[in-house]
Amino acid sequence: MSGAESEATTACVVGGGPAGAMVALLLARAGVDVTLLERHGDFLRDFRGDTVHPATLDVLDQLELAERLHARPHQKIGSMSMIRAGRRRELADFRRLKVKFPYITMIGQWDFLDFITGEAARYPNFRLLMNSSLHDVLRVDGRVRGIRYRHGDEHHELRAELVIAADGRRSATRAAVGLHPRAKGVSIDVVLFRLSRRDDDPTEGITLRLDGGDVLGLIDRGSYWQSFVEIPKGDGIRALRAAGIEAFRDTVVRLAPFLADRVGEIESIDALNFLDVRVDRLRRWHVPGLLVIGDAAHCMSPVGGVGVNLAVQDAVATANTLVEPLLRCQDEGLPVPRSALAAVQRRRRLPTTTIQLLQRAALRVDLNGATAGPGPDTDDGAGAGTGLVAGLMGRVIAYGIRPERVRSRRILTPGRPPM
Ligand SMILES: Cc1cc2nc3c(=O)[nH]c(=O)nc-3n(C[C@H](O)[C@H](O)[C@H](O)COP(=O)(O)OP(=O)(O)OC[C@H]3O[C@@H](n4cnc5c(N)ncnc54)[C@H](O)[C@@H]3O)c2cc1C
Repeated sequence: MSGAESEATTACVVGGGPAGAMVALLLARAGVDVTLLERHGDFLRDFRGDTVHPATLDVLDQLELAERLHARPHQKIGSMSMIRAGRRRELADFRRLKVKFPYITMIGQWDFLDFITGEAARYPNFRLLMNSSLHDVLRVDGRVRGIRYRHGDEHHELRAELVIAADGRRSATRAAVGLHPRAKGVSIDVVLFRLSRRDDDPTEGITLRLDGGDVLGLIDRGSYWQSFVEIPKGDGIRALRAAGIEAFRDTVVRLAPFLADRVGEIESIDALNFLDVRVDRLRRWHVPGLLVIGDAAHCMSPVGGVGVNLAVQDAVATANTLVEPLLRCQDEGLPVPRSALAAVQRRRRLPTTTIQLLQRAALRVDLNGATAGPGPDTDDGAGAGTGLVAGLMGRVIAYGIRPERVRSRRILTPGRPPM
């Protein structure tokens, strides 16, 4: 220790991703002293979940923030579809939902996090520590009582009545308290890349293109295609390297012929972003004085792009359950009971488990269903008319199971909105 000041807060949230940023905002507006710790110096990381689902838009609406989020650059996606052998089939249709926001909003995750933390910063009891990385927890009498973190070369201690671990799929916080997730088997990894989009390109929304066992995902981001290709788990990336960049570009063009004129933008196999697809879950999300939420509690596969939404839903459930105990703790010194932490896990376990089951089933269906043979680029052919199923899938992807409503009250008046 550098002898740095030992600081104190009521709730310390580790990790400024969607789960951490949202729970910090909700706690701050309810009057809880909250410190949010983020190891990076900014939120600018490419190839992250950029989807804001209807359930999250509803949460923002309940916070009177939906309109302001929509003022930021975004795209609206009304459906997800699949193109196989030149025929398009709708997988999920959000436009049929009788809700205020019947679409997925695509917005850079950094922009979303910047927005949420900017809102939290309007409350005087919110503190954001960037460039600050947890490296251990503080324990007193077997209970977590805060964290140790590094800020540059300096070491600090932050005492807290509750630590919320929202530090993602490789959570150091959960490891520090001996919680380890159980991995569920998945068969794929994913490589991600961008290709520029032209005005006369097809309108795709979010589309999976399948052919000969290969899967290309395209997400229309206005000026570019956010793209991914599924590869077999394990040695898939090695096989890509062995085959070389030309073979990879050929695969992309076979799946989406309209990209032939710009596939050269993928410079090399090394320029692809590799995503180790995981599905895992903690058996227990808490120890005395500490709760784990978001990807740190349950890593989601990219299917349906639901990880951000689940992280936000965890945050809402956490605030709904813990605001009162945290305020009692802050005002009267009563510790947050473990039963309250267990209640958060009980509330979120079913939605998480169900979606993970569906994701793993979908991964099996997609790959097994891919037919051999060239796929002509007649992708705007009539859909197979599975409207009912697409509507149902739209609801499941948009809202998951048991969507949360913000119940924690705002007791503080925020300062002026950030410019
Ligand atoms: C390549 C990729 C593409 C994805 N695409 C989608 C998609 O399209 N839609 C979707 O919904 N989901 C997608 N996901 C998943 C989604 O991003 C996650 O499910 C979601 O971000 C989880 O939110 P979280 O807040 O739990 O964790 P994270 O977003 O992982 O946030 C954790 C935060 O903790 C910080 N942190 C980590 N360790 C420490 C530490 N020791 N100290 C301090 N801070 C720390 C990290 O820097 C990070 O900011 C994708 C994920 C990846 C990797």
